Amino acid sequence: MSREEKVSQRELFDKQMKEFEEFVESMKDSLGLPTFPDMKSGALQWYDQRWITTRFVISVEGIKEFFDKLIDGKFVTTKCKSCGELYFPPQKDCPKCRKSDMEWVELSREGELLTYTQINVKPYSFSHYDDYIVGIVRLPEGINVTAWIRADDPSKLQIGMKMRLEIVRRKPENYITYEWVPAEE
Ligand SMILES: [Zn+2]
Repeated sequence: MSREEKVSQRELFDKQMKEFEEFVESMKDSLGLPTFPDMKSGALQWYDQRWITTRFVISVEGIKEFFDKLIDGKFVTTKCKSCGELYFPPQKDCPKCRKSDMEWVELSREGELLTYTQINVKPYSFSHYDDYIVGIVRLPEGINVTAWIRADDPSKLQIGMKMRLEIVRRKPENYITYEWVPAEE
């Protein structure tokens, strides 16, 4: 999808919203109320609008080690000392044996591509992004790691191909994360 089309996805939404707001304003001018009949049922509707900004603040204290290591360019996860179960994303507690005695182990940086999908139609808050590919890669340890895939030529992606994990500082978020790239690139 080209840049113009990408922008237009958000622009189209903004345009529709603006038209609707203008319509409601005209109803207020003529009726004195922000009310209008529903297009299908004719039932009277009241319009109001609040813009919502969502902020995420979640505690990652229990898996702090993961982020400390990621900054150092290492990819680690938790392994239950009691039953040996490996978890990704890392977990503070073991759901299997209900203990909280985890050790940190380094994970393989190569695996097999299980599945992937290109995200063309993005939610409004992601509509300024280029189209991106999300994939699931199975590590030799038998766990799956979902991440964005960076590929020079997405048409060359194939189920079963070898993928390599890279720790990157990704734009536009400007934070350190991990993504999959075809291993031969
Ligand atoms: Zn366990």
